[in-house]
Amino acid sequence: MELLSTAWNCRASAISFAPLITPNSCNTSHFQHPSFPPQRLSFPFCPYPFRFVSNKSLTLEARKRNSEPEQQPLVSPTMFNTAGKVIKCKAAVAWEAGKPLVIEEVEVAPPQKHEVRLKILYTALCHTDVYFWQAKGQNPLFPRIFGHEAGGIVESVGEGVTELQPGDHVLPVFTGECKECAHCKSEESNLCDLLRINTDRGTMLNDGQTRFSKDGKPIYHFVGTSTFSEYTVSHVGSVAKINPAAPLDKVCILSCGVCTGFGATVNVAKPKKGSSVAIFGLGAVGLAAAEGARVSGASRIIGVDLNSNRFEEAKKFGVNEFVNPKDHNKPVQEVIAEMTNGGVDRSVECTGSIQAMISAFECVHDGWGVAVLVGVPNKDDAFKTHPINFLNERTLKGTFYGNYKPRTDLPGVVEQYMNKEMELDKFITHSVSFSEINKAFEYMLAGEGIRCIIRMEH
Ligand code: NAD
Ligand code: ZN
Repeated sequence: MELLSTAWNCRASAISFAPLITPNSCNTSHFQHPSFPPQRLSFPFCPYPFRFVSNKSLTLEARKRNSEPEQQPLVSPTMFNTAGKVIKCKAAVAWEAGKPLVIEEVEVAPPQKHEVRLKILYTALCHTDVYFWQAKGQNPLFPRIFGHEAGGIVESVGEGVTELQPGDHVLPVFTGECKECAHCKSEESNLCDLLRINTDRGTMLNDGQTRFSKDGKPIYHFVGTSTFSEYTVSHVGSVAKINPAAPLDKVCILSCGVCTGFGATVNVAKPKKGSSVAIFGLGAVGLAAAEGARVSGASRIIGVDLNSNRFEEAKKFGVNEFVNPKDHNKPVQEVIAEMTNGGVDRSVECTGSIQAMISAFECVHDGWGVAVLVGVPNKDDAFKTHPINFLNERTLKGTFYGNYKPRTDLPGVVEQYMNKEMELDKFITHSVSFSEINKAFEYMLAGEGIRCIIRMEH
């Protein structure tokens, strides 16, 4: 059986079934995992997907922080004099596939209707940027400004924007939420009709033009965010407003990798307490998925990676068994089935390798096993497995952004970090200045570290 992977048009099968709830409104009795600090909420044991609503769930600590005088040394007094004008700033431009980015002075046009212009303060590198920069298995589109995991401040807003104003602290997200389409109104989907991820579009929705240019030549956008620039323009629906007390150099990684992996486990795979979970790929996304399994009370968390250097670091994220497919002369799904008496209860694939996707599905237990695909496939990949695997009551799902709705849910996830219910610092292993952005690519290509934060000069 072949399922052609038209990755960017296919609908994620990640499903959530519940009404909007806050942790306070959930009256399910929660299991407290022994490794869980006592002050943490054990929300993932709630049978409903965890979806925050506004700030109602703020703890006293976070409220106190909110009421503390706001420190904003990052905003210069002249910052907002630029509204309505073209801004000249530095951006890391990818001129050609696979060639080092070049820091250039570019022009960033003012935001148009339903758009906002952001001053990016911190950004990080995700493997999705690297795939489209390499353009090996993806459509090439150059020159382009990549980057989609970031934190910043609203510089100015375009016509019709009422939800955001200059000075707001925000996280841009690669898949947006218009709040009006059938998907946004559905509890079961985060695939907004208007703003869902589109890797082939390099222009703004409003007029089909770019807001970036150099010497009059347009430079393409990437997934509506293009955060490898001191200033960028996004659709308002692709920008989540967050607590201004949250440190942007940490919470910026929630704008892609950590929410994606964590949500893939707690919102989509939903492992039960005491269950076994295999995580394929132990980069930031996979380790966040492992963290989701850990806080869900999974007892066996099996990390699968071709790079054994990942294993030591992964222990901090709850991974307690390891398999390197290269160490075995049979398919890794068979190795895992033998280790687990027939297969794992859940698996989450975070590699982008089609072979790993197939293995992740074929290593789950029949009768109840669920596999969740997260990695971004090449455009010509095809998923091939025997249909008997479905008849044997295994389930295959997939998700973008861990099924979180970015504007509705992300502010609440930031509060989880502020309330010490979620750890982010351990994902951040490197930090470079903007002028050294190519080093972040080198680290990722060498499989070194987890997330590298790129500091914009401000
Ligand atoms: P990363 O490069 O940091 O980590 C990937 C890991 O997978 C590496 O440790 C690598 O050694 C391992 N790996 C590669 N091939 C493997 C294989 N065949 N078997 C086992 N391990 C293998 O990447 P990342 O930033 O953590 O991203 C992981 C994946 O998630 C990428 O494909 C990325 O594009 C995708 N992604 C998807 C979404 C989404 O919303 N679905 C969002 C962000 C990232
Ligand atoms: Zn990403």
